[in-house]
Amino acid sequence: MSSPNVETDTTDVIICGCGPTGALLSANLSRLKVNHVILEREAEITTDPRGIALDEDGIRIMQGVGLYEELFRDVGKSMGVFRFIEGGRGLNVAPFLQFDYSTIEGGTGHVGFLCHKQPAMERHLQAKIDQTYGQLRSSSSVVAISEDKGNVYVDYEEGSGKLRRIRGKYLVGADGKTGFIRKKYLEPRGIIMEKSAKFRYEAVWVALNWHITLPTPESHPDFPLWRLGYTPEEVYDLYFPRDFNFICDPTRPSVCGRFGRTVDRLWRFEFVVKPGEDGQKMATPEETQKIIFPYLTHPGRRYVLTENVAFPADCIKCIRSRPFSFSARSCNNWSLGRVILCGDAAHVFPPFGGQGITSGFRDAISLSWRLKIAVRSDSADYQALFAGWAAERKQQLERSLASTIENGNFCNEPSRIKAFIRNWYLWVYQLIPSWKHSLELGGRREGMTRYDY
Ligand SMILES: Cc1cc2nc3c(=O)[nH]c(=O)nc-3n(C[C@H](O)[C@H](O)[C@H](O)COP(=O)(O)OP(=O)(O)OC[C@H]3O[C@@H](n4cnc5c(N)ncnc54)[C@H](O)[C@@H]3O)c2cc1C
Repeated sequence: MSSPNVETDTTDVIICGCGPTGALLSANLSRLKVNHVILEREAEITTDPRGIALDEDGIRIMQGVGLYEELFRDVGKSMGVFRFIEGGRGLNVAPFLQFDYSTIEGGTGHVGFLCHKQPAMERHLQAKIDQTYGQLRSSSSVVAISEDKGNVYVDYEEGSGKLRRIRGKYLVGADGKTGFIRKKYLEPRGIIMEKSAKFRYEAVWVALNWHITLPTPESHPDFPLWRLGYTPEEVYDLYFPRDFNFICDPTRPSVCGRFGRTVDRLWRFEFVVKPGEDGQKMATPEETQKIIFPYLTHPGRRYVLTENVAFPADCIKCIRSRPFSFSARSCNNWSLGRVILCGDAAHVFPPFGGQGITSGFRDAISLSWRLKIAVRSDSADYQALFAGWAAERKQQLERSLASTIENGNFCNEPSRIKAFIRNWYLWVYQLIPSWKHSLELGGRREGMTRYDY
């Protein structure tokens, strides 16, 4: 065992990490009456909203654990339409292509995407951990793992520095893309993250979140649009449109849109860091303003004014601005012995398709019933169960990657000439209403995933 003479207790399933994946797994194990303990390094849910897009399958899965009203009341709202626009002409230009995710035409009966606040979603998920079967131990960092024939032993350090041990039949690493379970325990045993052969795009992007305050005639008496009769709410809609924009600018691909509830007034802008640029520097206010403010300055002629009209900068508060690198990768194996990887610990996506959280959810929901079988019977062939789970999941992962690639390719086309030809081709294509409608279905065009094996 990893270290002797430490206080030890026992459960059936140990989950390392209580992000969206670990929390959803716990909620499902609770429903299946499987005893489990979740060890989470942090004392509180991280307040940094990272993921903002949850697809309809994710909404369905949340509904499956009894969270639906909460989603639209506290967490977010329909993401509306994904608009693919040319760069350099503001956010209100007509798109050359759009995916209409405001409808319920997919396979689940839900809108295509929810734009959400990840911390609020995690808070609701954690509330679904049923204390009868599951226990969340916060401020508990996993530091060592060992296995014998029938058990896995996990050593973890509490916030006070005290070392404790827990014994379980299975350990699930839901500890994120740089998590301990894969990096320190499974990688030395041959489990590695492999790059996707289909999507080789790797890049650094800056993701920033802004909180917007509405300007008013009292706070900004000189703002020119008041004279034209605009209300503060209309000004907000003009500068921070409701739908999500993919800015397909060969010189600086970017995406932007609202997230969370309307009243939260949160805005995400992500842009690519070009070769030779420094990610940290590009995330500073001086650099981000140079890139984003042109989108927040409208030409005066739009309002029959002589001067351009900029949204008041003092109504914008930056609450996050950080570079992050991304690629499409997945582990060569998702389990070894009694240790299983789930969510970002097993696979990572570029952000264009909003597939990170939902993929972790799908892992968790389809793993939970297999864990139930595995813990119920000591004679169950757990290795075959988990291999079947990974084979099932990888089929769906391909599909998630395909929709991510589709969005990413539109956004990241580096050649102006190719982008020009593509846009004209799409314009002609969309003259046929049924073809246009088919395009507007976006990732829902292919229907729900079918599992062949
Ligand atoms: C800028 C950005 C934008 C994104 N946008 C989207 C989006 O729009 N849509 C989307 O679906 N996804 C998006 N993602 C990805 C999304 O955030 C992740 O896919 C998701 O958080 C993965 O959930 P997870 O539970 O698997 O891992 P995580 O959220 O990383 O959670 C892992 C948990 O494990 C804990 N942990 C780590 N090590 C230990 C340890 N040793 N002991 C105990 N606990 C430990 C951590 O504290 C953490 O709570 C984005 C990510 C970023 C960075």
